[in-house]
Amino acid sequence: MQIYVADNGDRVHILAVSISFEVLGSSSRGNCYLLRTAESNILIDAGFSKKAIVFLLGQRGLSIDDIHGIFVTHEHNDHCAGIKGLSKFKSIIFLANEKTAKAVNIKLDKDINWTLFENERGFSFRDLEVVAFPLPHDAADPVGYTFSLRNCSDGPFFSKICIMTDLGYVPHGLAQYTNDVDWLVIEANHDLQLLEFDPKRPIYIKNRIRGKFGHLSNDAALSFISQNYSTRWKKITFVHLSSDCNNPEIVHRMTQKCKLLRNLEFEVADPLPIRCGQETCNQKSTLITAPTGAWSEPFTSV
Ligand SMILES: [Zn+2]
Ligand SMILES: [Zn+2]
Repeated sequence: MQIYVADNGDRVHILAVSISFEVLGSSSRGNCYLLRTAESNILIDAGFSKKAIVFLLGQRGLSIDDIHGIFVTHEHNDHCAGIKGLSKFKSIIFLANEKTAKAVNIKLDKDINWTLFENERGFSFRDLEVVAFPLPHDAADPVGYTFSLRNCSDGPFFSKICIMTDLGYVPHGLAQYTNDVDWLVIEANHDLQLLEFDPKRPIYIKNRIRGKFGHLSNDAALSFISQNYSTRWKKITFVHLSSDCNNPEIVHRMTQKCKLLRNLEFEVADPLPIRCGQETCNQKSTLITAPTGAWSEPFTSV
């Protein structure tokens, strides 16, 4: 996104460039985020159908042809359900690490033409510098991302963002990816009490969600934020809320308790169903998959 100001005449000049980030939809039933800069329109994950994603982009004045790349975090259905349909658009570049690419191909029974990257080795994509970093979750090789504007130093706008969802706990050392960002997008999946007493989920699912390779609770997200608070942060967006075991009000209340965060802008993604006209476009909530065994644990729990 470019921000323009007019001077005294009719001329308009660029004041600054900024990353713009928007949640197209986020919950346990589907996740898709739109990140825009002066030169890039990218999606992080595509956890809705092609039809839904086309609809959601259209609401924002974009078509699928405007999307340059889709960065996939991991192969779970709520993150890649739209990949097969979107792969018909040859102009889109699909990016993932090798294990995730293979896992998505197997799951979708289709050889997507992937652009592969290695975790923790930065690379360029148009006007962005990208780093993918591993997260503890029951998938082949799940990652979070940092995106930073190339050739842009710290300023009044957003030049670096970190997106991390689908992690069972906060690994030691994760703060190295969050301490120099302006904008942190973090999972706040469930309220521990609501999950404990949720009548819909059997105990093995509850144990999977709150296990080391499951999802981050509200308490764990807030604890990470409090313990690793960075003066560089300007905004925090909470995403991937469980529609049954969490709600935005609980997350808002939780943030009020943390004095450190009072100067920051907050946003909580509502886990409401995504509607495309008359239809609900969310994926069915899936019971996840046992760990693949491919994930090696590079972290120690904190
Ligand atoms: Zn997942
Ligand atoms: Zn997920």
